[in-house]
Amino acid sequence: MAKVLDSFLKENLDDLKSKGLFNVIDPLQSANGPMIKVSGKQLINLSSNNYLGLATDNRLKEVALKAIEEFGVGAGAVRTINGTLELHTALEDKIAEFKHTEAAIAYQSGFNCNMAAISAVMDKNDAILSDELNHASIIDGCRLSKAKIIRVKHSDMDDLRAKAKEAVECGLYNKIMVITDGVFSMDGDIAKLPEIVQIAEEFDLITYVDDAHGSGVLGKGAGTVKHFGLSDKVDFQIGTLSKAIGVVGGYVAGKKELIEWLKVRSRPFLFSTALPPADIAACKKAIEILMESTELHDRLWENGDYLKKGLKELGFNIGDSETPITPCIIGEEKLTQQFSRRLFEEGVYAKSIVFPTVPQGTGRVRNMPTAAHTKEMLDQAIAIYERVGKELGVI
Ligand SMILES: *Cc1c(COP(=O)(O)O)cnc(C)c1O
Repeated sequence: MAKVLDSFLKENLDDLKSKGLFNVIDPLQSANGPMIKVSGKQLINLSSNNYLGLATDNRLKEVALKAIEEFGVGAGAVRTINGTLELHTALEDKIAEFKHTEAAIAYQSGFNCNMAAISAVMDKNDAILSDELNHASIIDGCRLSKAKIIRVKHSDMDDLRAKAKEAVECGLYNKIMVITDGVFSMDGDIAKLPEIVQIAEEFDLITYVDDAHGSGVLGKGAGTVKHFGLSDKVDFQIGTLSKAIGVVGGYVAGKKELIEWLKVRSRPFLFSTALPPADIAACKKAIEILMESTELHDRLWENGDYLKKGLKELGFNIGDSETPITPCIIGEEKLTQQFSRRLFEEGVYAKSIVFPTVPQGTGRVRNMPTAAHTKEMLDQAIAIYERVGKELGVI
């Protein structure tokens, strides 16, 4: 190894470890269902994004196996050479139908989708108004575009309006985009889309909503944009196929011309191999399930409300989440990590999230209840929270 690399790695790894910021990854010894096995231990899983339990759904497994039999395990090329299977176009048609848009384009991941879509449209002569709590992939996608990034205070509509006005009036930019998460994953709050759309109309801003945590969860499953009845008012509806949908991939849904442009100009679509057959087939099935019935969606909300009520009654600070995401705010970083560790020992897998992912002093254990949890599992989790909370003096 080059000496400079060796010393760089040593120095920085030691630094992280000494500050308690080095993340140790626990490999699962089971599927990522409502119960998981880690280090030989059965745990109630409150950490996945598998909101609807579809990651282990038998109907998805069945179509995935069938797709492998018929199409093999790999797409064989990038989409624009000959990696586009009929399965891809069928999935994209289904996504458009699900999102109530004219068309859609699928990518290999949600992260990839933000790398692809922002820089296909925005460049160095443009500006992007970006909520300060936007996801890392949005931030990286914005940077990649070389557009001027203007940070907007979290969900602060006065700040957004003032900065939009300033960006228009300074006359420096050809195009201006406003970009936001649909649901913010650390607190579970929902973007103020009606106001954002109104400001966008006033200043002719391009609207971009990344609904990774809202799709399958809000709008009876169709997402945050549908929840507010704004399907024809948002230019880019981004989603992931890896959270509520339970598989892997990302997409943009929007007007036909936008999707056509992305198919000829977005680099991950042009230069990275297409999603494999099993995954596409499973994604399409998942969306069909969501469009046929709200059963899983309803159960997710029921379970989310049940867990929230249980933790709140015990005296925990669960913040102001408007979705099933249930943060349990502990505060101090070390205590938060200890809390999460004790939950693990008692049988609950819920990860601690601390600075710099969230502001200093607001360390939390984040709970992600899913449709697949039973009432018994949630009762047991609440009882463990009570025990650990009392032991550590949190409640
Ligand atoms: C999780 C997430 C992504 C990344 O999606 P993947 O499909 O996991 O790559 C992108 N944007 C937001 C807002 C997310 O929460």
